[in-house]
Amino acid sequence: MRDSRHKRNESLGTLELPELLPGWVWLTGAGPGDPGLLTLHAWNALQQAEVVVYDALVDESILQLAPPQAELEYAGKRGGKPSPRQADISHRLIQLARRKKRVVRLKGGDPFVFGRGGEEALNLVEAGVPFRIIPGVTAGIGGLAYAGIPVTHRDTNSAVTFLTGHGTTGLVPERHDWEGLAKGSPVLVIYMAMKHLANIAEQLMSHGRSPQEPVAIVAHACTPHQQVLETRLGECVAAAQEAALEPPALVVVGEVVRFRESLDWLGALEGRLLTRDPLGTRQLSETG
Ligand code: SAH
Repeated sequence: MRDSRHKRNESLGTLELPELLPGWVWLTGAGPGDPGLLTLHAWNALQQAEVVVYDALVDESILQLAPPQAELEYAGKRGGKPSPRQADISHRLIQLARRKKRVVRLKGGDPFVFGRGGEEALNLVEAGVPFRIIPGVTAGIGGLAYAGIPVTHRDTNSAVTFLTGHGTTGLVPERHDWEGLAKGSPVLVIYMAMKHLANIAEQLMSHGRSPQEPVAIVAHACTPHQQVLETRLGECVAAAQEAALEPPALVVVGEVVRFRESLDWLGALEGRLLTRDPLGTRQLSETG
């Protein structure tokens, strides 16, 4: 796919990646934290950036991949100050592009998953600024994988729903059809769920989900500060408070959470014994 000139990078053998031309904006997903989860396109973007406009969720170690002379511009919330308005961020991107900068707009996870990437891209289109979209590993999939939780599994669910727990008004999104979600979504992966967790859990239970249903809360996924809490729907609010989990965090509701006792590969690195059958209790060490 050649939307611009391509060039080789010695460390990538014969693979040629596109050149970030002056006046272009590349809307780039940075993945959920671990720099190893960047795509080659994201890495290639950072190598060529003259300006990186980044969000709060982008890990410091990823910003360090930009050349030392690149300008790093923060576009997120900091120290209690209100975040810049979305329109201001878009204006800034357009301004930089018109100054013929090579611009990387870096967002946590995937730019099109609860990241307002679509809005920014639409503003670029309107302004006639050429752009590229570089998808990223979204926290709702990659973050759960780092917690040992598959978002689908043949034995438990053939559908998964990603939703936000926070609406544009700051309240629980009024547009959610809670009854439909409770009845139709075997696995719910909820972004920005911590603030309204009590309300969300209540909505799900009042529409028929069992208080016993497994829930995991994965905070700071894919970073050295990753914390995973395994709990149940009826207890998750108290358990989250007790564990003092800090955002960013994902909440996953559904039977897939039970696979964690078998698939917590990060825990295994630190000595956790994984069970062979998540529905039973057989220990690998016992069966040798
Ligand atoms: N575009 C991002 C999501 C942005 S919305 C993506 O695709 O991942 C911000 C929310 O994403 C946070 O409130 C949290 O719910 C989730 N999130 C992002 N990074 C995370 C991480 N490293 N660990 C846990 N949750 C994360």
